[in-house]
Amino acid sequence: MLPVRRALEVLWRVVSVALTVAFVASSSASCGGEVVLAGSSAQTQPPETPTPPAPRLPLMQSLWPRSVGRVVIEVDYGPGAAPYVGAVPGVGNTWNILAANARRLFQGSGKSLVIPSTLGEMQRIEVTGRDFTLEDLVAITRRTRNNVSTAATATFHVIFLDGYYVDAAGVRRTDLLGGHLEGMGVIVVFKPVVASTAANAAAWVPAVVEQATLVHELGHAVGLVDGGIAPVRGHHDVAHPHHCTSNMCVMNAWNEGASAAAAFVARVTATGNSVLFDDACLEDAAAAIAAAR
Ligand SMILES: [Zn+2]
Ligand SMILES: [Zn+2]
Repeated sequence: MLPVRRALEVLWRVVSVALTVAFVASSSASCGGEVVLAGSSAQTQPPETPTPPAPRLPLMQSLWPRSVGRVVIEVDYGPGAAPYVGAVPGVGNTWNILAANARRLFQGSGKSLVIPSTLGEMQRIEVTGRDFTLEDLVAITRRTRNNVSTAATATFHVIFLDGYYVDAAGVRRTDLLGGHLEGMGVIVVFKPVVASTAANAAAWVPAVVEQATLVHELGHAVGLVDGGIAPVRGHHDVAHPHHCTSNMCVMNAWNEGASAAAAFVARVTATGNSVLFDDACLEDAAAAIAAAR
């Protein structure tokens, strides 16, 4: 559909498209924290680059008004990359984790949420290859996204891929669990990295890590922390931009690798609290909701 494509192209040009690392899932040399990889950021463009007229607001700034009554999360998966579904001990349906956190994030907003929980509610897409550049990811969402945001509906597009992100330097990032395309409401999960958290862990760990990855990226996609919505109190980890200083919060930078991610989810599941955001992050969302009234 041309309008969809055109809107995405505008966003692609205008918004500084960045792929944000969800968690560093290995204890390799990349443990310095989450990496924000600029796609077409301002510093890579000459100053004379023409700016397209009338750019749309990035999603994280446009979704809060009460007039946006619905939030739809579309989930697509490539061959060999189907999301974990079904029961997880102590959690019930795996996708309850994302749903519970999205509900809590938007609490008081009056928005209705549409989130799938079974593979039947998700779409299998044709994707080839094992390595995905930023341009590949943009091309995939352009080709496969069925829902576009309107004045009344904000949409997110989640894509599960059986492969890895290849960064601007051409390096295959086997440590990267997921990312998001800034301003576009697109979340990507790199399945082999998620699956790698099964090593020396309880059977349910990869499924919960996968859900935590989705929650983390949804947090970024809606503007946490200081990524479109302003922090109410000082919890922005400036050393790891757009992350939360609390290590009890899903928006923490997770710089200790897969074992830390697994430990976090085990800790949170043990508390019986399915909300992975801390109070500071929830406060930011509540303030955005209140300001948009
Ligand atoms: Zn992050
Ligand atoms: Zn937080």
